[in-house]
Amino acid sequence: MEKKIFIKTFGCQMNEYDSNRIYDSVKSIGFIKTDDQKNADCVVLNTCHIRDKSKEKVYHEIGRVKKNYKQKHKPIVVVAGCVAQAENQEMLKREPYIDIVIGPQSYHKINELIKKFEPHRQEEETEFDTISKFEYFDVIKNKTNKISSFLTIQEGCDKFCHFCVVPFTRGPEYSRPFKKILYEAETLIKNGTKEITLLGQNVNAYSFFENSKEYRISNLINELAKYSELKRIRYTTSHPRDMTDDLIDCYANNKKLMPFVHLPIQSGSNKILKLMNRKHTVEEYINTCEKIKKINAKVEFSSDFIISYPGETSDDFNDTLSLIKKIKFINSYSFIFSPRPGTKAAGLNMIDKEISKERLNEIQKKLFDHQKNKNKSFEGEIVEVLVENKIKNQPKLFGRNKFNNSVIFSGNNNDIGKIIKVKIKSTNQNTLFGEAA
Ligand code: SAM
Ligand code: SF4
Repeated sequence: MEKKIFIKTFGCQMNEYDSNRIYDSVKSIGFIKTDDQKNADCVVLNTCHIRDKSKEKVYHEIGRVKKNYKQKHKPIVVVAGCVAQAENQEMLKREPYIDIVIGPQSYHKINELIKKFEPHRQEEETEFDTISKFEYFDVIKNKTNKISSFLTIQEGCDKFCHFCVVPFTRGPEYSRPFKKILYEAETLIKNGTKEITLLGQNVNAYSFFENSKEYRISNLINELAKYSELKRIRYTTSHPRDMTDDLIDCYANNKKLMPFVHLPIQSGSNKILKLMNRKHTVEEYINTCEKIKKINAKVEFSSDFIISYPGETSDDFNDTLSLIKKIKFINSYSFIFSPRPGTKAAGLNMIDKEISKERLNEIQKKLFDHQKNKNKSFEGEIVEVLVENKIKNQPKLFGRNKFNNSVIFSGNNNDIGKIIKVKIKSTNQNTLFGEAA
């Protein structure tokens, strides 16, 4: 009889991609996906370690699972992802309810670990075995059948920004073979995908050599654009230093590459960027944005900001505000610096909590005001929307415009999977509302 597996995904799109691939893998050992955590034979928590409280969130979630299964047979409990990688043995000691801890570069071993599961015998697998992982998944068909799908092309990071845990949890940079990525893209397209978002912690650092030829993300984008059924291409997250001219040129020539770049800068102060070990300056960042705009004036940007990095003075913070004024980001994420164990910035003197909160409020007000105004500028306009799905319990459809804004509108269910024109009637900070034009 088929067994049920439930995966709760925390964090970024890369974890979402990984969770889907875990579902694809465990199918061959008789597990099918369920959305009901309370009736699963196996519960996987796919965790994120990027900011603090992530570890506690995992223990809370396990508490919830325990409560749900109080009177019932206990499911196999798996902690996967970056918290698993960072905490491994500690987690098993602290929480005997956990059966398996598995790091993000060991997912190819998940079937074996589940198969050999025995009650009260905890297992841990946190090797950095990225090549074997992708070789394993290359032969397992990606079953995702969404209109908009993620496709991981690169993992890990060699940049070691002083605040960031990624090089420790995802390991060194690895780029998947060019042809394997295209093969997976073809599978997704056959499954009905119309938009692919290429993923990587440093997606634009993608570099794969074959017969002494280097393949970069620009080659992938141009190759993907040749598939007629594929309508849109995006990528995330990119690093400013890897925004090379070949990639910038795609914005001139490639009609399927969407005119929206998520390009995190973290701070508008060169002093802070240096302390963070970001390896780029504010001027270089602005220069890159200007180059892209010159090649395609329609392109819009978004960014990530870390507020109150140790050493950030009010002048440094004001530099970040000035940058926001200059580059009118249409959507951004901002976080107060969170010390991560094992990183260089972990032991540095923290900025007062109240000051940090004030700074975060101030920057978010400016970012969100701009975001709202930008969205308002769409009111009365007709935008092109790739229709992704029907909204549950509502006679409405959901899709995204070119700039990745969510659009909710009245339309025809037959339009799912198509790019259609939508007239925007009203907007708020995060969403555009309208009707099919
Ligand atoms: N590779 C991307 C880059 O270099 O721009 C960023 C990827 S990181 C997984 C996602 C975002 O999390 C970062 O851009 C940063 O703003 C935020 N972040 C990472 N570490 C953080 C920390 N210790 N405290 C607060 N925010 C953090
Ligand atoms: Fe983390 Fe991005 Fe810096 Fe790499 S480049 S260490 S993923 S913030």
